Amino acid sequence: MHEILEQLEDKLKKASTQEDLKQLKSFFLGKSGLLTKSFKELGKLTQEERIEKGRILNDLKQLITEKIEDKLQNIKTFQKQQELNEDLDLFLDGKSNNIGSIHPVNLVIREISDIFLSMGFGVEDGPEVELDLYNFELLNVPKNHPARDMQDTFYIDENRLLRTQTSGVQVRTMLKKKPPLMFIAPGRVYRRDSDLTHSPMFHQIEGLAVDKNIRFSDLKGVLEAFLNEFFGKTKVRFRPSYFPFTEPSAEVDIGCVICGGKGCRVCSNTGYLEVLGCGMVHRNVLKNVDYEGYRGFAFGLGVERFAMLKYGIDNIRLMFENDLRFLEQFSNSFYPKGLV
Ligand SMILES: [Zn+2]
Repeated sequence: MHEILEQLEDKLKKASTQEDLKQLKSFFLGKSGLLTKSFKELGKLTQEERIEKGRILNDLKQLITEKIEDKLQNIKTFQKQQELNEDLDLFLDGKSNNIGSIHPVNLVIREISDIFLSMGFGVEDGPEVELDLYNFELLNVPKNHPARDMQDTFYIDENRLLRTQTSGVQVRTMLKKKPPLMFIAPGRVYRRDSDLTHSPMFHQIEGLAVDKNIRFSDLKGVLEAFLNEFFGKTKVRFRPSYFPFTEPSAEVDIGCVICGGKGCRVCSNTGYLEVLGCGMVHRNVLKNVDYEGYRGFAFGLGVERFAMLKYGIDNIRLMFENDLRFLEQFSNSFYPKGLV
């Protein structure tokens, strides 16, 4: 028995293929195998010896079968491993979780808010479904006023509309709070307008400052500081303009970010790009909210336009198509901790 077991261990050690194991099995358990021979010899023994040795041989047969089966599994696993190793490319990219990025519109809102917060402005909010009263009438735009044609409005009914500007927040805040005050109001606005640079839904940031002695030069200083911070050092130009809720009113241009002022297709060869509208708050608006004796300035800008100029985006629709190839380009955008 010991001899057989020793031989078994020795042969198992040497066997490395399934074919080796087949031969090994036949060596012990085949028709003329070692164990088969011993079984045949049982006939020559006495009955007692036969029972005793038969039991031992059966145990041995079972043991050998199990050991061969174990080894077979080992060889199979080993072979599988070898095959896997051959196909294993250590230089393939691993699986990684996709991490979302901040949308360029939000990036710009945060950056602009940051600049104004650092100058002492607060942040106010208002509803997107707005009363005609706050969106137009109290802002010196009565019904049938020709200035209403400047903004194609989505009306819900006679008195309610989707706000065309964040200026309604001005009125709401002034009715709620006592002057002096200084705040910006970022938010969505809606107009019936759609082309390469206009979307029926877009974002505006409104700014308002009211106090006893606010002058146009304060407005100029604040906006120049803001534009130089946001776009980097740039030329800033104020042009006279008209808005019903400010008097005097101005449109503000910066040096063209594409050509640097030399003149190109984007700036229509003027070297300047219009970026926002502003002015001193109209006396009628101040009167409407019982702010008589105070003066203020206001400004409004389009967030998408700022994002397009800052990041060189030439089609506003890219902002709202949610194409990951577009959005992922902003995933490395730096933003100070705590505000993200
Ligand atoms: Zn240009």
